[in-house]
Amino acid sequence: MLEVPQPSREMTPTGYDFRGSTVFVSGGTSGINFGIADAYAKAGARVAVMSRNAERVETAAAKLRRHGNEALGFVGDVRDMEAVRRSLAGTHEEFGEIDVLVSGAAGNFLAPALDISSNGFRAVIDIDLVGTFHVLRAGFDFLRRPGASLINISAPQSTFPSPMQVHVCAAKAGLDQVMRVLALEWGPYHVRVNSIVPGPIADTGGLAKLVSDTERSRIEGRIPLRRVGTIDDIAEMALFLGSERASYITGALIPVDGGISLLGGRNYAGEPEQTPQEMP
Ligand code: NAP
Repeated sequence: MLEVPQPSREMTPTGYDFRGSTVFVSGGTSGINFGIADAYAKAGARVAVMSRNAERVETAAAKLRRHGNEALGFVGDVRDMEAVRRSLAGTHEEFGEIDVLVSGAAGNFLAPALDISSNGFRAVIDIDLVGTFHVLRAGFDFLRRPGASLINISAPQSTFPSPMQVHVCAAKAGLDQVMRVLALEWGPYHVRVNSIVPGPIADTGGLAKLVSDTERSRIEGRIPLRRVGTIDDIAEMALFLGSERASYITGALIPVDGGISLLGGRNYAGEPEQTPQEMP
């Protein structure tokens, strides 16, 4: 029987104690992913983030250090397995075994399938799906085993077919299956793998791309809890999944969405901008 280390129960202001833990967040320099990185830094963890834009990486790492712990930033594209491996190896070298690994990098744009080129489709599959495989697979070699928690950031499009989102629907559905298979294969190492499915989240690049201000109030009227989510709503779930309080949870797809998934597949973007005359 493998011994799973039990972290101390002493708390930080977040209600969690991740002091002595190492956290890596891919795409962790803005929006939801940065919010997760920041929550872990606040909870005492040493956090590393990775994304493509050097300035964004530098700014994110500096903000994380304000919580008083070491933080690292790596410039890299999740589509490049070697760059991913280098970032993870660098984190491992500086901070030791990785306790929590978050895969959050994603790309998105609104377009009907008829207007999406092979390259456009492939770019989203490469970032969201192949990129996540790179992060989790390369990450495995640097994880605390037993005990690590892996968290994918999925999206409602993984379950609900959404017009103008064929590329994202395909990529995120694949990502959910990667999560489930790895939960099966890596469970015996006491490595947990789960996905968070955020609903529409305020103050993020993702929501800004998909929804106008008018659209936003229409969406809020449909969400059972009558508000869009916050970055903190998602960070809270990520802290829980990374903690020993979630030690029996693996292979789960967890919506944090004010209940909007109960209503099925209506997309944030509404209906495609095609009139019946234009339809084939
Ligand atoms: P965001 O603010 O647009 O941030 C995306 C991050 O990913 C950025 O830090 C970006 O930095 C990085 N990134 C993009 N492509 C990358 C690549 N190829 N390699 C490495 N890093 C890359 O995103 P968000 O809206 O907060 O969304 C975060 C996650 O939540 C995504 O997985 C998204 O699908 C999911 N989600 C969001 C919402 C929402 O309402 N926003 C709803 C459901 C699901 P660089 O540009 O520097 O690379």
